[in-house]
Amino acid sequence: MKTSGKGPALLRLNNLKRVMAQLRTARITTRQDLAQALDLNKNTVSLIVDDLLAQGLIQALGPVSVAAAGRPKIEIALRPETLKTVGIMVERNAVHWRVADYFSQVIAEQTWQTDTRDPQVLMHELVEVCQTLHAAHPELLGIGLGFPGIIDPQRGRVHFSAQLGWQEVDVLTPLLNAVPLPLYVMNNVKAAALLAVQQLGLRQSHSHFYLRIGEGLGGALVEQGSVLTGSSWTAGEIGHMQSQHNGLRCDCGRHGCLETLLSLPAIRQQLGKRKAGLTLRNLEAAPAIVQDVMHTAGSHLGQALSQVMLLMNPASIIVDGPWNAYPAFTQAVRDAAQASTLAYTFDHTALHFLPERIDPANGLALAVITQYEKTEA
Ligand SMILES: [Zn+2]
Repeated sequence: MKTSGKGPALLRLNNLKRVMAQLRTARITTRQDLAQALDLNKNTVSLIVDDLLAQGLIQALGPVSVAAAGRPKIEIALRPETLKTVGIMVERNAVHWRVADYFSQVIAEQTWQTDTRDPQVLMHELVEVCQTLHAAHPELLGIGLGFPGIIDPQRGRVHFSAQLGWQEVDVLTPLLNAVPLPLYVMNNVKAAALLAVQQLGLRQSHSHFYLRIGEGLGGALVEQGSVLTGSSWTAGEIGHMQSQHNGLRCDCGRHGCLETLLSLPAIRQQLGKRKAGLTLRNLEAAPAIVQDVMHTAGSHLGQALSQVMLLMNPASIIVDGPWNAYPAFTQAVRDAAQASTLAYTFDHTALHFLPERIDPANGLALAVITQYEKTEA
């Protein structure tokens, strides 16, 4: 039931969130431009801006030189260092944390090796990390915690993680009791997807598919600035699409998954099989074999991406992986995708091969911001 008074208060809060989001994307703007971009009344925007100025969250940069008559526009900008967030990424036997400002610039970071087999032990460690970071950065907006595997962000549960060897672990409850901050639990790759879309400056109104190649292979669809999780949190799990009959055994227990053809361990194994002693560190020893392995890997990926193009029809597909440096790989991805999908679809899908890897921990920090900016109905 709606209580009286909730309406205007909620409206004010939602307007504030929209102004924050716009200040973050525009970086430098004016009250007039904010009002226009958000289709809000100028007085409404001015009240919010005055309030943010008083809190020291934004700064006035000075008047814009305009030829037209009327009041000069004053440029304003967020002070990104006043609102920080934390991302903590858990991987097999390693934890990485990053403190980032409101513009996703990393302020502090740490990575360390630890035994991740026992969830209870690791959760104790994570509680301590959260408390230490909160004490060091009292202005934190929240903390994003990421895990590999099937993660329910609403309930903060790791349902299954082959990488960690975990099953049905409630990670949110022990943290909620110990850390008085908004906390978000999600899958590492899904958090990286948010950051990839932001870094490329892709349109929020479109949908974008992000694919990450590492020890495993994961993916996520970002739609309207949010990650699609699916009804059982496995939307975008392209790594477990079957790509080869009677293929190699995958971490998930089945055979021939795309992951077994493209991941770091998969390529390492293929190189060693083709030439004894050939590893990722001495690739120059056998350029023809490398070319061939990369071409085959790219063809498998392109074939899988053609299915993504047809099923989800994203505006762009972002490939984040160690093989992007090989033209034989990127060209094979394009060729196979083009050969296996409709020409019209292919022509309207932008393929991005990232030259630098996305840091999922920074993506988790960004997830806190996007949650904070989300308007409520
Ligand atoms: Zn699999």
